[in-house]
Amino acid sequence: MGKLIYLDNNASTPCDPRVVEAMLPYFAERCGNPSAVAHAAGRAAADAVDAARKEVAGLVGAVPKEIVFTSGATESNNLGIFGVANARVGWRSCVVTTSVEHRSVLEPCKVLGKQGLEVHVLPVHESGIVSVDAARRVIDENTLLVSVQLANNETGTIQAVSETAERAHQVGVIVHCDAAQAVGKIPVDVDALGVDLLSLSAHKIYGPKGVGALYVRRRPRATALSPLAFGGGQECGIRPGTLNVAGIVGFGEACRLCRLAPQEESDRIAALRDRIESSLKACFSDVTVNGARNSRLSNTSSLTFHDIDAEALIVNLRDVAVSNGSACNSGAPEPSHVLTAMGIGRDEAHSTIRS
Ligand code: PMP
Repeated sequence: MGKLIYLDNNASTPCDPRVVEAMLPYFAERCGNPSAVAHAAGRAAADAVDAARKEVAGLVGAVPKEIVFTSGATESNNLGIFGVANARVGWRSCVVTTSVEHRSVLEPCKVLGKQGLEVHVLPVHESGIVSVDAARRVIDENTLLVSVQLANNETGTIQAVSETAERAHQVGVIVHCDAAQAVGKIPVDVDALGVDLLSLSAHKIYGPKGVGALYVRRRPRATALSPLAFGGGQECGIRPGTLNVAGIVGFGEACRLCRLAPQEESDRIAALRDRIESSLKACFSDVTVNGARNSRLSNTSSLTFHDIDAEALIVNLRDVAVSNGSACNSGAPEPSHVLTAMGIGRDEAHSTIRS
């Protein structure tokens, strides 16, 4: 990649060399299937998965048996949303989410809408923050599930998940939280947040791509969840299929490294981000920083360069890697749904980059 300045860590982070080192033996030398516990090779793989499960659980204040390994946050979001809806068919008829969720939350909710559930999509303020009062007004005894992200992938805006969860639990509603961008950047504790389901992804925290987890609360009561796939007993039957042992080991190591990272690291990154933003504003009169300033991930910046086509800007910034929104939406002609939900016009949205 030459001298590329990589500023697209919300799309994906590089694997930490320590993560790569931890994973390597599990591609060939330690080839056992963790379900084949009759022999030593299988047991060694199962032990490695157990150790990783402990690390992942520890990072979010869960216990290991509450962690279900998946292929990433997209699958975790789908499993959480459809899993609850399928487990509780006919029980309650409404799902609540927000207008700034990742598509892997919004689209499953849309599918549930087509299947007959009522879907409430909560609006956000221009800061990108969901009104907790609006959430409180909408969540009632008819609500099956609330899905609110912890931090946004385009603006870094952090939501008041615990306050929404508190209201939801007053009326017996299951709370899912997409924490793919928040984990590793801010402290995440499933009990402090009061969530029943939480999605994580390894490649956002210097781990490998294609592996993640869904936290499924078991204490004090187990959260009922139906599988989306069938044909194996792995992950208690909730997510059958041979486990991605190398990926899971890498994910565990990435989580261990996150827990070791000092708080000052986040302050250092925020200071660098703020310096870039103020330098750009000093050079170009017409630059806007989008999203809440105080309630924002330290590593994220959403910048509108008014009257400039973001796509052209990105292509011409040959030595700098940034994106014009979510990597999952790139190439889409439509402006970012996150920015338009914040009241940013289509033209401005097309003039916005995210790093
Ligand atoms: N949710 C959020 C907030 C994300 O940023 C992403 C990744 N862009 C996902 C979910 C999907 O994660 P994965 O790539 O692990 O499927």
